[in-house]
Amino acid sequence: MKICVLPGDGIGPEIMAEAVRVLQALDLDCEMAEGLLGGGAVDATGDPYPEATQRLAQDADAVLLGAVGGPQWDNLPREQRPERGLLGIRKQLGLFANLRPAVLYRELANASTLKPEVVAGLDILIVRELTGDIYFGQPRGIETRELDGRQERFGFNTMQYSESEIRRILRVAFAAARRRNRKLCSVDKMNVLETTQLWRDVASETAAEYPDVELSHMLVDNAAMQLVRNPKQFDVIVTGNMFGDILSDEASMLTGSIGMLPSASLDVDNKGLYEPCHGSAPDIAGQGVANPLATILSVAMMLRYTFAREDDARRIESAVKRVLAQGYRTADIYEPGTQRVGTGAMGDAVLAAL
Ligand code: NAD
Repeated sequence: MKICVLPGDGIGPEIMAEAVRVLQALDLDCEMAEGLLGGGAVDATGDPYPEATQRLAQDADAVLLGAVGGPQWDNLPREQRPERGLLGIRKQLGLFANLRPAVLYRELANASTLKPEVVAGLDILIVRELTGDIYFGQPRGIETRELDGRQERFGFNTMQYSESEIRRILRVAFAAARRRNRKLCSVDKMNVLETTQLWRDVASETAAEYPDVELSHMLVDNAAMQLVRNPKQFDVIVTGNMFGDILSDEASMLTGSIGMLPSASLDVDNKGLYEPCHGSAPDIAGQGVANPLATILSVAMMLRYTFAREDDARRIESAVKRVLAQGYRTADIYEPGTQRVGTGAMGDAVLAAL
């Protein structure tokens, strides 16, 4: 088991330290190699995804990533911004399928801003296409152009998907739905965007391969609304890169904290990049208060999807459930009557539960 560990920026190194401790505690035969990605990589090498990291990532079976970015890098040329490193590694490794579970632990029902009866027992999976769409389409840029006789800046991006790109992500989503409650909702904006009309057509065609899965379609604005109105109507949601980016963050908040949610990004052979859904949280970096559970749960996803070690994945998930039942909470999920702990103490509690 060769694992490339990329702690990244902000709270990344703090939460990754706890995830690595949990992995080590399982005493598996794994080899870990650490690399630079994001702002720290720009500072050290001028490149958010340096060649040395590229070699490590390509050589590994799985990549474990903290988070990248921060305000100190926001004014760099776009090519050097930390987020470019993230987009670069996803593209290079061919990680086209992003799986984001949104699970509400019973103990955290009150941490959600939604009423407990709306979210209690929530267990949905958002499958987001990750290597196409408007985030990668060409042409793109900001140019000065003449408009009505005056010079004005003009911003433009290109939304695009090929049929094969749509079909392969739909297949991942149908397969995931088959392992769950066999309901798949495909989200698009076909009333306005031709690209997503094609998305809907291909989704309907692909459904013929999965007669046991019930496919429905929903417009993205309605999906955003339904996710807060009645999120338990969903089992698996599949959508493109940009809509998925937004909807999966919205789904995260249904569960009370973005600090609880892991994610997996897979290639065609189940090689994966595993990371928490949240960013580098510069507002709390260095304070030892960040919630490490999303990163620890990402280790569980890694063991499940890339290494097919379901038992070890469950051991980690059970340990997390147990520390929540014991009342340990980081600040982001704290409520009166529970015990507030920092990043390291939460890691200790998970290790003890393991
Ligand atoms: P963010 O997810 O970093 O933070 C949003 C809010 O959630 C903040 O209040 C933060 O304190 C809190 N939060 C996030 N993770 C937490 C955790 N583990 N424990 C407790 N609280 C947590 O999003 P943002 O503020 O929009 O972005 C900050 C930086 O992160 C930006 O530079 C952005 O580009 C980058 N970012 C990176 C990734 C990634 O690496 N995958 C994803 C999103 C944003």
